[in-house]
Amino acid sequence: CEIFYMKDFFPKGVAWVNSEFVDISEAHIPILDWGFLRSDATYDVVHVWKGRFFLLDKHIDRFFMSSKKLKMPCEISRHKLKKILAGCVKQSGLENAYVEMIQTRGMSPTFDRDPRKSNPRFIAFAVPFGWILKPEDIEIGLDAAVTKIKRIPPNSVDPTIKNYHWLDLVSGMFEAYDRGHQTGILVDEKNNILEGPGFNIFSLNKNVLMTPKKGVLQGITRGAVIDIAKELRLPVKLESISIKKLMSSSEIFATSTAGGIMPITKIDGKKIGLGNFGETTRKLYKIYWEKHFDLDWSLSVEEILK
Ligand code: PLP
Repeated sequence: CEIFYMKDFFPKGVAWVNSEFVDISEAHIPILDWGFLRSDATYDVVHVWKGRFFLLDKHIDRFFMSSKKLKMPCEISRHKLKKILAGCVKQSGLENAYVEMIQTRGMSPTFDRDPRKSNPRFIAFAVPFGWILKPEDIEIGLDAAVTKIKRIPPNSVDPTIKNYHWLDLVSGMFEAYDRGHQTGILVDEKNNILEGPGFNIFSLNKNVLMTPKKGVLQGITRGAVIDIAKELRLPVKLESISIKKLMSSSEIFATSTAGGIMPITKIDGKKIGLGNFGETTRKLYKIYWEKHFDLDWSLSVEEILK
């Protein structure tokens, strides 16, 4: 009979838990952790491309801000955090990695219901880089549905704190799959579009880039696009985008650490603009990937571990 090992069920990867590096298949947390029982956690994901972290300090800034806002500040210094993340990547042997840092509320030894009685927990891991849209499908782009599911309102869960309250996003994905599309874009109470499962949205309309100002995660890739657009003297407006406005875009794209800049060529099966990987999206995409080797935007794993 065939023998399976835990490792067979996991991707390649290394985690940092309980203050040590372990193979990803051996990384465990107690089931009584509030992070697991209540989604009471924050996290951030940075990627490593060809051995270099991309915009690492921006991800760490957002992680520290999120954990502070949730009153579970990360007690690990920026310097040590970088060493831990780089250590996970180095030990995993991955050239291209998806690197996650997590702060949970932790657990209380008496299972106290008061979150202040818990001891926060820090976890990190590196696994292979994952794409929302695979590079081989970039010319085809994504066919996204605008869902009936609304995003959790920002006055309930602050979307600028990166969080695991994903049931709206996951329900949106299933709604999209059921309707024959690849992913979903969620809306607010006024039916303005917001964001999707793990990505922000940009629309190009009459040569002006638009992205929702609020109600969304202030994505690091979104910020990178805004900076690149400035370099290109391409105007950017941060404002609400109605479904009608979205449908009249000449180009639409999603932005995420999990894949960068990804064209959305169809909404609800209808072509956007020419229905292809548009010229402006392509220009931004090219510069975005070039920036991965720019010393102001990236930092090598080896440099951190020196
Ligand atoms: N919006 C949500 C809800 C996300 O979870 C993410 C990333 O996971 C993004 C947007 C994109 O953010 P970033 O560009 O920082 O990866």
